[in-house]
Amino acid sequence: MVTAYINHVACTKHDMGRAHPESPARLAAIEDHLISSGIAGLLERHDAPAAKVSEVARVHPLEYIEAIRAASPRAGIVHLDPDTAMCPHTWDAVLHASGAAVLATDLVVERRASSAFCAVRPPGHHATRTRPMGFCFFNNVAVAAKHALEHHGLERVAIIDFDVHHGNGTEDIFSDDERVVMASIFQHPFYPYSGTENVAPNMANVPLPAGSDGKALRTAVEKIWMPALDDFAPQMVFVSAGFDAHVEDDMAMLRFTEADYAWVTQRIKEVADKYADGRIVSVLEGGYALSALGRSVVTHLKVLGGF
Ligand SMILES: [Zn+2]
Repeated sequence: MVTAYINHVACTKHDMGRAHPESPARLAAIEDHLISSGIAGLLERHDAPAAKVSEVARVHPLEYIEAIRAASPRAGIVHLDPDTAMCPHTWDAVLHASGAAVLATDLVVERRASSAFCAVRPPGHHATRTRPMGFCFFNNVAVAAKHALEHHGLERVAIIDFDVHHGNGTEDIFSDDERVVMASIFQHPFYPYSGTENVAPNMANVPLPAGSDGKALRTAVEKIWMPALDDFAPQMVFVSAGFDAHVEDDMAMLRFTEADYAWVTQRIKEVADKYADGRIVSVLEGGYALSALGRSVVTHLKVLGGF
């Protein structure tokens, strides 16, 4: 079976200003590295549809969805918070980013692909049910997980988040939801300064101090993630795939390399193979050092696809 690669041109038009690190150049860097690595032709490409309001509404209240739509500017850039801004193309990008995650879920559940990667922006894991923040508007991976649970009828899904920032939005949405286990690592203390207090029992959170490298990742995965995932036996695995813990990424201060992303992807694949018939949907989150992002995504895709 194939590995699907899902994106949409709208995601390249969302622009929060020239100096903003969450830039269209990120997706261009990924495309460059797909070509230079020789894996571009091995992926099955899909254009993302726009998510339906009913799909997004499984996660975000209708009033929130409408408020984001209504905030869209006709021209220029409007800030929803100091980090998170909309241009005239943002609303379209937001819908297609979540739509990509929904399509990825359909492809994998219906066995039209063994795994799928969504090369989308804006990212999603900081978006809570009712608040945009940290470059995020709709929580793409949460929309996908709810689609698997409530449309496809799955009973247990895992969400694995290796972005350098804590996925506070995903935690807000799924805390105490017995259908979901979330396993994450994140630099701490660091934005968004969450994930260590009043943590729900279905959250396997591992805060890592600044300077932690791939050894700390491996210890966290083996000691904390794997027991939680083995206990839970997920029927499908979602990944919030942020690559901003890379040593070259100065957004944060962890020291992962491509070899670490290959290793963690392999461990995720082993969990999916053991419990979930191999089903993995991975959705891009952060990653701001352009070359490191491109190389890391290629590494992730090579392991996902077995290339
Ligand atoms: Zn991040």
